Amino acid sequence: MTAASSPLFPPLEAWGVPRGGKLLVAGPCSAESPEQLLQTARGLSGSGITILRAGIWKPRTRPGHFEGKGTPALKWLVEAGRAIGVPVATEVAETRHVENCLKHGIDVLWVGARSTGNPFTVQAIADALRGVDVPVLVKNPVSPDIDLWIGAIERLQRAGIRRLVAVHRGFASSTKTVFRNAPLWRIPLDLRTRVPGIPLICDPSHICGSTRLLGAVAQEAMDLLFDGLMLEVHANPREALSDASQQLTPVEFTALLDGLLMSRPTLRTEEERAYFKTLRSRIDRIDSKIIELLGRRMAVARKFGVYKRRQGVSLFQPGRYEEILQSRVAEGAKVALEEEFVTRVYQHIHEEALRHQEVAGMTVEREGRAAGGRVRRTKYDK
Ligand code: PEP
Ligand code: MN
Repeated sequence: MTAASSPLFPPLEAWGVPRGGKLLVAGPCSAESPEQLLQTARGLSGSGITILRAGIWKPRTRPGHFEGKGTPALKWLVEAGRAIGVPVATEVAETRHVENCLKHGIDVLWVGARSTGNPFTVQAIADALRGVDVPVLVKNPVSPDIDLWIGAIERLQRAGIRRLVAVHRGFASSTKTVFRNAPLWRIPLDLRTRVPGIPLICDPSHICGSTRLLGAVAQEAMDLLFDGLMLEVHANPREALSDASQQLTPVEFTALLDGLLMSRPTLRTEEERAYFKTLRSRIDRIDSKIIELLGRRMAVARKFGVYKRRQGVSLFQPGRYEEILQSRVAEGAKVALEEEFVTRVYQHIHEEALRHQEVAGMTVEREGRAAGGRVRRTKYDK
């Protein structure tokens, strides 16, 4: 089944997006007052947004921060949306939130990152939505666990929700990066393969945590053929009660959209096709070499595993790992490879090399036992 023809997920037109257009969700992190919502909505009017967003109940990582205005703000949000003729969305994390949203006529709901990570919470939301035809946006979980994300989508599907959109908002990471939440693009791209047809949009605001890289992340999402964007926009970001550093003014939002280069997934001319072919075969040849070299590297690791076992030396050699990382990062820098990338690649290579050493070492033990305790040469030992 191709993504575009999947009957499971209605096309973006079902969300009111013109054919070929993008789903655009914009609005403040939090609903703060009727005036703030109305002013932001008016600023966004005419910018082509599909949905006006605002958080009513704010999930805060630590207590003591602004936790949202709660139920009274539902009316403000609905009114701000009506004023500019755009449907409105807010985050739900409990049965009570869902019930209140439905009662007040909130058009679209979203499940936040902290909720997607908890199957009990998602199930409670899904149960509260059974039999209701309301669209739901599902953010990725805080941790880079694609199954939790897919599980949340499935729970909502089983409750009968058809209009679902996945929102990529980045992932918490133990290594420090320029992002508030590391994008780890391979995860949303995997999601597209594993849940064919689900519209996928990107939330650069929560990935970046500041306005500095928003344009670059939004552009990357467009280049990866995401179906839309969710961006935090506030009439007066500096005064915002939550996520002040990452919100755009409506004018900045429009400028960001205007600056995006839109690309097409298909090739048109013979010249394009020929050039693609040339560069792709160059990449294919390089990849064959990379694979061959990795195979050879692992063969050396196996030989090493046998030797270390025979000599009774530990497979993991303290100091060597750091030395590998440091020297490879330095070499990588000379050919424009990012430190973070080289580190990640070598973490995987080193881990796999240890596994090969371990397995090869076991054959020494087995053959040693078979030979009545005497350790013999193995095929890796040539
Ligand atoms: C939000 O959209 O304001 C929000 C809290 O997002 P997330 O769940 O992605 O952290
Ligand atoms: Mn926010």
